[in-house]
Amino acid sequence: MPIGVIVAVAILCIIVAVLSSAQRADEISVETERQMFARAIRNYGTRVLRELESVASSEDAVRNLRTHFDPEWAQQRLGTWLDTYFDHDSVFLIDGYGKIISSHSRWRRPDEAWNALAQADLMPVLQALHNGANADERHRTVRIDNFLNRPAIIAAVVVGRGEAEPVDETSAFSSAPVTVSVKTIDQDVLSDIASHLRIRHLRRVAGSVVPSGDFLYPLVDENGRLIATFAWTPNQPGAEIVNNVVPFLATALAGFALLAAFVLRYMRRTAAAIVAGEKRLHHLAMHDPLCGLPNRAFFAERLEAIIEDVKLGGPSAALFYVDLDHFKEVNDTLGHHIGDELIRNVTLRLSNVLRSQSERTADLVARLGGDEFAVLSQLTGNETITSIANRILAALCAPYAIGNHNIVIGASIGVSLIDEKVTDAADILRYADMALYRAKNEGRNRACLYDAEMDADLSSRKLLEIDLRRAIETDGLTLLYQPLVNASGERMIGVEALCRWTHPVRGAIPPSEFIPVAEHSGLIVELGEWVLRRACLDARDFGDVSVAVNVSPLQFRRADFVSVVERVLAETQLDPSRLELELTESTLLGNFDLAESAMRRLKNIGVRLALDDFGTGYSSLQYLRNFPFDKLKIDRSFVDSIEKAADAAAIVHAIVGLGRGLGMKVTAEGVETADQHLFLRAAGVHIMQGYRFGRAVSAAEISARLARPELYRLSAPETALAS
Ligand code: GH3
Ligand code: MG
Repeated sequence: MPIGVIVAVAILCIIVAVLSSAQRADEISVETERQMFARAIRNYGTRVLRELESVASSEDAVRNLRTHFDPEWAQQRLGTWLDTYFDHDSVFLIDGYGKIISSHSRWRRPDEAWNALAQADLMPVLQALHNGANADERHRTVRIDNFLNRPAIIAAVVVGRGEAEPVDETSAFSSAPVTVSVKTIDQDVLSDIASHLRIRHLRRVAGSVVPSGDFLYPLVDENGRLIATFAWTPNQPGAEIVNNVVPFLATALAGFALLAAFVLRYMRRTAAAIVAGEKRLHHLAMHDPLCGLPNRAFFAERLEAIIEDVKLGGPSAALFYVDLDHFKEVNDTLGHHIGDELIRNVTLRLSNVLRSQSERTADLVARLGGDEFAVLSQLTGNETITSIANRILAALCAPYAIGNHNIVIGASIGVSLIDEKVTDAADILRYADMALYRAKNEGRNRACLYDAEMDADLSSRKLLEIDLRRAIETDGLTLLYQPLVNASGERMIGVEALCRWTHPVRGAIPPSEFIPVAEHSGLIVELGEWVLRRACLDARDFGDVSVAVNVSPLQFRRADFVSVVERVLAETQLDPSRLELELTESTLLGNFDLAESAMRRLKNIGVRLALDDFGTGYSSLQYLRNFPFDKLKIDRSFVDSIEKAADAAAIVHAIVGLGRGLGMKVTAEGVETADQHLFLRAAGVHIMQGYRFGRAVSAAEISARLARPELYRLSAPETALAS
């Protein structure tokens, strides 16, 4: 718009400038023509005067007109001569008293009556001659005046060289005769002037009515009396200017307009591109690039809107906070691209759940990041939180066919109700998060609705975290050691360090409670290092018995883990071969190469490695082949089932066979009864651990037991079996 206006104003200014200069040029031209016309008339008068003077001043004239008057000479050499050679219309010789002595006219033969008429019109010029201001003006003069009702140039010259002298003091007339010539300003004169001045249609007009555009020139005498009116068609250089300029101007304007149009088009396109770009950016800013779902920012906006709506009396809604269970394992075992594809599939299923449920515009599925999704749904009709949650779970848990893989994955859902009691979005998110945590903790693949208890739960977890940090820093934890014995159970060959925490206020807190807190908060790294150092220190009093320390996946995956072990060993001066690190299979997931190289470095130091809880995870044979384990630990769940389930016994046999085949020692944990002991021993298990051989006790008790082994002798397995 502004550019259009500027262009229009510029065009208008140029047009106005051209027109006004054209008009001004016309005005100047008319003024010039007027002045030239006036000068031309004057020049005509001067010419007539000069011509008359050339005759009147000659010696012949003095002789024949003044000294001795010769009428014949006057007719021939004055009247006829001036008429013939100079086109004067009428010539008069007037005596000193103003009386016509001789007259000549090209129009007619002068008679008394005509002379009388003429004389009247000649009086003003004679008067002017007599009243001349100086000698020259008194000798000759010229006037423009009416002569017999026609505009004419009337020139008067005193015969001879002298001036018109008065006859006597009282007389107004001169003593010398005066010649007078009249040249009518007729069409011939006008045509002559017009051709000289290059003006068109110069003519005398009677009134003041002329065609429009023609110029009127009133010819007046010195008193302002109108003598005649002339008119002509003035030249119009303005029109010419306009005519000359118009093509250029039109071309320039067309170019200008074209340019403006181009600029406008370009700007419109640019503006459109900017708008489209902004839209795209906005879409990108509001959507997840992987699955195209609304992202956290979009979700936050919609959540705010729903809360507002509910506060204004709209239907209640619910936030379903969905997190896939063990999604990392999919990434780790099948690769990230399969993980991504799974996320896209989950997205589709979640969207379908909502779509089939309703077409309500306020409902939304968003990806909040990683494997976290949010579903916002208004609770209208007979849909309840439970039914929606079940539908989400059912949709997500059905198998996915991705590539050649058939993937089954669970999901945990934290639900938070959005009703009129809700204060803000942050609360809703916090509630859903707590409910999700509860769902995960209660075994996953389920939905939990937030209740006020969870708040207390969360704050107690937070407090626990603070206290745990302090306990690690102030050595407020203790290590107990559970014996590991040889197959016969007679000799203690090792101990497993187990961490215990006695809270100053709450008393003993089980590891099942504080280890998840440590893992969740990242404290597990400090805790792990503390356990390692304590165990190594204590083990120095355990003779040649080895000490086993559990390593959490988070701890093991840290780049500095091996150097931490080296440092602790150096600090505590423990023989590395007496240290055994227990890893679980999940520790090995992820970067296969990094895990293997860390393990090899540990082996090089002399540290031994045990695969803990074998049989509960993937139990991948690949792990056993690739990773340098010294020992396999059969999970307690198999040991527990030996007597009840035949398959458990078969599995134990298989694991032992596998371990032995790969040159590893096999340990069984959770051995409680003599029968279990007997079975495991018979199956070929090398090392036993469990209540049957001793509970976890303090380092001092281990030392005491090592000093006096006879006090800790077992009842014979055979006996136990018999009983
Ligand atoms: P949990 O059962 O406790 O939820 O454990 P989880 O294995 O599902 O892991 P968690 O929810 O704590 O973390 C989600 C993981 O998802 C972390 C990361 O490795 C993975 N992840 C995050 N973003 C992406 C992604 O865009 N694509 C893929 N393939 N994986 C992702
Ligand atoms: Mg998850």
